[in-house]
Formats: sequence, structure tokens, C-alpha cells
Amino acid sequence: AAKADGRSTFRFYEQSMRLAAEKRHLLTLELRQALNEGQFELYYQPIFTLADDSISGFEALIRWHHPQRGMVSPAEFIPVAEETGLISGIGQWVLRKACMTAARWPKSIKISVNLSAAQFDQAGLLDTVVMALEEADLEPHRLELEITESIFLSNSRQNIQLLYGLRDLGVRIAMDDFGTGYSSLSYLSSFPFDKIKIDRSFVSGIEVDTRNLAIIQAVAVLGAGFNIITTAEGVETAQQLTRLRHEQFGEVQGFLTGRPMPASEIDTFISSKSASSSRVLNEPASSA
Ligand code: C2E
Ligand code: MG
Ligand code: MG
Ligand code: MG
Repeated sequence: AAKADGRSTFRFYEQSMRLAAEKRHLLTLELRQALNEGQFELYYQPIFTLADDSISGFEALIRWHHPQRGMVSPAEFIPVAEETGLISGIGQWVLRKACMTAARWPKSIKISVNLSAAQFDQAGLLDTVVMALEEADLEPHRLELEITESIFLSNSRQNIQLLYGLRDLGVRIAMDDFGTGYSSLSYLSSFPFDKIKIDRSFVSGIEVDTRNLAIIQAVAVLGAGFNIITTAEGVETAQQLTRLRHEQFGEVQGFLTGRPMPASEIDTFISSKSASSSRVLNEPASSA
């Protein structure tokens, strides 16, 4: 009986592996189709400067309107796009679209675009960025590229060179999801980042969690020492916002101050924020 059990367990394992592979294969085909048929859209989430409560920029976040499944989260399809190489085409689309959209905003407002490590492994990233900027006629300093520590895991020398190449164009480089990877501090000192974005897992609970608060305080000190901007992701409560102000954080981004929104809502959002008087951010969350 034990032997038969073992065999059926193995068969079950084999079947679920095959199922997973088939699902991935289907997803790959669907992703290629999505790019060709225009099923992707960019949403934009506001980022605020705490010193004056002004909008510093928006982060572009990709959305997939799947014909049957509805909205699919990037957390689900970006990893598959990375493994299959499709990220290069998708990433190119994101860069072009984001730059074109931002070119219509007031010049004080920047655009942040996420780059996958896999995009660094493919030739032509530099050209893609140059072309996206030129096509949109966007000043390079208005584009910020968000990268994660994963780009330092393989080809790190080559990737760091590429980062310098990007910075030489005049675009800004931010380290995203800071604190969630491996030995983040050594990476921070290996490249002159313009910004650190602390991951939202460290922001959650800072009202009560003294450990996360200590990490937030340490990052604020780090930012000041490096003379670079610190941004807190995933700010959801007014108490978190107050605390981040108190710790002299540079910027906040989160559901409290604005959810990701389609491009069509941005003009209204910008005017509603600049029309109101000071302390735009301490008003109760009225996110639509
Ligand atoms: P990320 O770059 O760290 O983006 C922030 C994520 O946190 C977004 O999720 C955003 O919607 C979410 N978020 C913002 N504020 C809050 C909050 O207050 N609470 C909570 N719970 N979540 C909040 P999203 O849009 O699902 O994107 C997930 C990840 O997918 C991104 O994380 C990024 O790594 C990746 N991604 C999104 N768009 C792109 C893209 O165009 N290219 C690449 N390569 N990756 C992308
Ligand atoms: Mg990001
Ligand atoms: Mg992030
Ligand atoms: Mg994140």
C-alpha cells in the first residue's frame, strides 16, 4: 500500500507540474497577444513631497485588461514576462507610453517607471530610453527609473555600467522596495542612487511596531547622509503620514494620499491638489 501511495503521490506531483507548465505556456501566448492587441494600460499613482505637500511625480503601474479574466495584477504576469523575455517588448511599451503621458503634465511633475532586472540583460535598454524621451520630447530629468536590488545579483558589473549610462542621459535612478532583497547596504554604496524607496512592509505598523519604526528612522538618516531623497511606499494611515513627517522623510506614496489611477483622471487630480490650501495631505482620505 505504501508503495502504491508513493506512486500516486508522484503521479499527482507530475500532473500538477505539467499543469503549471501548461498554464505558463498559455499565459505566455496571451501576453504576446495582449501586447499586440493593446490590452495593457498604465495607471499612475501620485508621490508627494512632504516639505510642501506638492505632487513630486507619479509612478506608472501596468494593468492588464484580460479579455476573459478582467484586470490581472502585474505581480502575476510580470514574473512570467521576465522569464520568457517578453518583458523587453512590454517594458519598451511602458517606457514610451509613460513618457508620452508625462510630457503633457506640468513640468514640475516627474514620472517613475519600473525596470525589471531582465530588461538590463537585453541589449538596447539605453537606446529604448533615449528613444522614449526623444519621441515624447520629455526632459530626461523628469524621468525616474525604479530598479530593485535583483539587478545586482547577476551581471552586476555590466548592469552597474548600464546604470551609469542611464544616469549620464540625465534620468534619475531610484532603488525600489529597499530592504526586501539581500545586503541592500552594499548595493546602495556601489551606485549613486538619486532616491531610496523603502518597501511598504516596513511602513506598515510603524504606529505601534518599534522595530519597523527603527528601520524607517535608520533609512531617514541614510538618506540624509547620502543626500538623496527617501520615499515611503504603502502609506495607508494618517498616523503613518504624521510619523513619516516627524522622521523627516522626503516623500510619501500610498493609498492614503492617492491610489493608482488611469491617465484620464490625472489633470483633475492635479488641479484638486493645487487648488486646496496647505496641508493637502492631512485631510481625511477621500480616494475614489
Ligand atoms: P512597486 O513598484 O513596488 O509598486 C508599488 C505597488 O504597491 C503597486 O502595486 C501599488 O499599487 C501598490 N501600492 C501602492 N500604495 C499602496 C498602499 O498604500 N497599500 C498597498 N497595499 N499597496 C499599495 P501593483 O500596481 O500591483 O504593482 C506591483 C509590482 O509590479 C510593482 O511593485 C512593480 O514591481 C511591478 N510592476 C508594476 N508595473 C510595472 C511595469 O510597468 N514594469 C515592471 N517591470 N514592473 C512593474
Ligand atoms: Mg516601483
Ligand atoms: Mg516598490
Ligand atoms: Mg513593491
